[in-house]
Amino acid sequence: MVTLASGPALPWSNGVYSVKRHGVTITNCDSEPVQTPGCIQAHGALLVVRPSDLEILQVSENARAILGHDAADLLGRPLSAAVGEEPQASVRQFLDRGGADNNPLYVVTLPASAGVAALDVTVHTVDGVAVIELEATGRTDGIEPDYVGLLQKTVSRLQSATSVGELSRILSAEVRAITGFGRVMIYKFHADGHGEVFAESRDEAYAPWLGLHYPAEDIPRPAREIFKRVWCRPVPDVAGSLAELVPLAHPVSNAPLTMTQCALRGPSIMYTEYLRNMGVTAGLTMPIRQGGELWGLIACHHYAGPRHVSYPVRAACEFVAQIASLQLHSAKEREHVLYRLRVESVHNDLLARAAHEGGLATFFDGQPGMLEGLEAGGAALYQDGKWWKVGDTPSDEELDALARHLEGRPELARSTRRVYATDSLQQDYPPAAAFADRASGVLAVALAQGRRSLMMWFRPETIRVVEWGGNPHDKPTTLGPHGPRLTPRASFELFRESVRNRSLPWLDVEVDAAARLRVLVMDVIVGRAEQLADLNADLTRSNQELDAFAHAAGHDLKEPLRGIQQFANQLLESATRTDEEQRSKLEVLMRLTMRMDSLLDSLLHFSRVGRTTLDLESTDLDTVAREALEMVGSRTTNPSSEVVIPRELPRVHCDRVRVRDIFVNLLSNALKYNDKPSKQIEVGYIARGENLPRPGAPPGAAEHTIFFVKDNGIGISDKHLGPIFTLFRRLHAENEFGGGTGAGLTIVQKLVERHHGQIWVDSTLGWGSTFFFTLPGDGGP
Ligand code: ADP
Repeated sequence: MVTLASGPALPWSNGVYSVKRHGVTITNCDSEPVQTPGCIQAHGALLVVRPSDLEILQVSENARAILGHDAADLLGRPLSAAVGEEPQASVRQFLDRGGADNNPLYVVTLPASAGVAALDVTVHTVDGVAVIELEATGRTDGIEPDYVGLLQKTVSRLQSATSVGELSRILSAEVRAITGFGRVMIYKFHADGHGEVFAESRDEAYAPWLGLHYPAEDIPRPAREIFKRVWCRPVPDVAGSLAELVPLAHPVSNAPLTMTQCALRGPSIMYTEYLRNMGVTAGLTMPIRQGGELWGLIACHHYAGPRHVSYPVRAACEFVAQIASLQLHSAKEREHVLYRLRVESVHNDLLARAAHEGGLATFFDGQPGMLEGLEAGGAALYQDGKWWKVGDTPSDEELDALARHLEGRPELARSTRRVYATDSLQQDYPPAAAFADRASGVLAVALAQGRRSLMMWFRPETIRVVEWGGNPHDKPTTLGPHGPRLTPRASFELFRESVRNRSLPWLDVEVDAAARLRVLVMDVIVGRAEQLADLNADLTRSNQELDAFAHAAGHDLKEPLRGIQQFANQLLESATRTDEEQRSKLEVLMRLTMRMDSLLDSLLHFSRVGRTTLDLESTDLDTVAREALEMVGSRTTNPSSEVVIPRELPRVHCDRVRVRDIFVNLLSNALKYNDKPSKQIEVGYIARGENLPRPGAPPGAAEHTIFFVKDNGIGISDKHLGPIFTLFRRLHAENEFGGGTGAGLTIVQKLVERHHGQIWVDSTLGWGSTFFFTLPGDGGP
């Protein structure tokens, strides 16, 4: 940072500039010297008066030339000493009616008198003082053009524009007609701050500048800031002299006069030198604003000596600039109305499909797709654990890294619209160089806070030739007494440059459409999340009711069953030996009641699984599996069976007892449903990232460790794979394969699900089965 300290007499150098050598920029810091230069352009005079009694507090040093009185003679006198009694009364009246705070308005014209031209008087108030500016009327014949009629025509022409280009062309021609300047340019600022001559009306004698680009620093920030506050900036004589205020600061407060709104404000030497280098002899500039921001400038240049801009002309120009700013939005709207309608209709169709067919993945699959709306080379979205892509996009890994970078950008993380658009991604994110051919430009919207929840469109690099007014890389810095300083460029020769690593820019209508789609998508997502939450609540409720019913039924039925068993037993004991038929019927009854008893036990067990809370802790599954094996092994004494656990099972966050139940059930089934002379059983796991032996795992399962129990038993036919998990469903006769109630696998499934895991089976009839399950307590995502 370089501080250039000097008094306000040097209008452009009493502020603080920071100068970057590479990519030179001028940044205005605490003060904006251009607003308090302490001097005026000497073609007019300026008086600062106290509003209460109109005593003259400050006066421009050129008072004699303009007003016919020496500055020293006017200080401390009433305003009438400079302008006469009647004009003073007009100023008094004007101020009494409320004046014009920060907005100079015409009050009165002083008639010409001996040696002094007729003067227009404009007045405004600022910082508690009244500022009186006096300028020659510029009328020699006393005939005033019909500005109202002129403006009416101008306004209706501007309103007829159907595009920004047309609006700019009309604007440049109209302003030239009003001002009579040699060249009027519509200068448009690009997103990176550099400017382009977007439209131009000029005398044929001058070379065309249409399409030329100028680096951002040609119009420094302080100047741009001023154009957010003033509507007209005249410099009628670039070579004209400056007149200081006497005294330089307010005699009481000692503050320099804020001259932001003064038409006579002294321009910075930087600016006049810049104009002079271009051969400009008079300048007039008006802003074109959009939503409080500076969209561009109406820059008028004259090359044939000074060019007076009278108050009515300035007022007309201000008015035209305001109308143009208002018209800009509707011209943009009209220009892209068809495109906007098409994009919105495609987006509506996309959403309708997503809402009906299950989610945003449909954007990438079928018609219409993500690329049928916005014009882009590719698009991507992260959903359900993967990148969905269409067209030319970076790879998954590149998208991951890009998403990580983008999620931190304030436009996506904190702004209300959550939209980020750039036609030069590499500038913000150098690794983008690797995929410039696919994504030099990115338009992204954030669907939610956090990693990868982005919807993005990409545009490839488009190599364009940009014509600069002077070499933009030739940074005009010189070493001044206080360090490096920016000086106006002296060369405006055409400089052609091909711009790389840039895509076609995103239009406002495209950025708006992306923001709109985001809002609609959020509605769909939120809507679906609410639906799912409702379904989940319903499911939880019916599960709880089922558990309660199973428990009550199990409990209540056991009681009468015990009674039936007792009576059947008594009848059996009292039955005579000869009554064989009665005995065998009673034996069947006994067997059926015992079966019913074990079914009720299973039912109670099942309901308990759903009702008890899990006791989750870090658990060594290797020990648990070996305990389960001991429990099962003690039941089977077959020496030909072999159960192996080839590698140690990992630790898992789970309920130790319940998971042991899972292993006990699966191991006992593996031994039970096995007719091989040598029963081979393996307990093992597949770690995350390892290949699954066969496809068939449900979605998302591979993100966790998968445990399995594999046997070489009887196997299960495909059509029975589903039903085996149904309560009380057995595939075999009651006594075959050691019997059972058909509740074991249902309970196992419920235990796994209570750990938020999944269970599935892979089996070949006659060859054996493998039961797989996950326990997401393994620390997976
Ligand atoms: P149960 O063993 O009490 O009959 P399960 O719910 O444990 O009840 O099993 C349901 C059915 O699934 C069994 O009847 C059997 O037909 C089949 N089954 C279970 N495990 C295996 C296995 N390892 N191999 C072949 N079939 C099996």
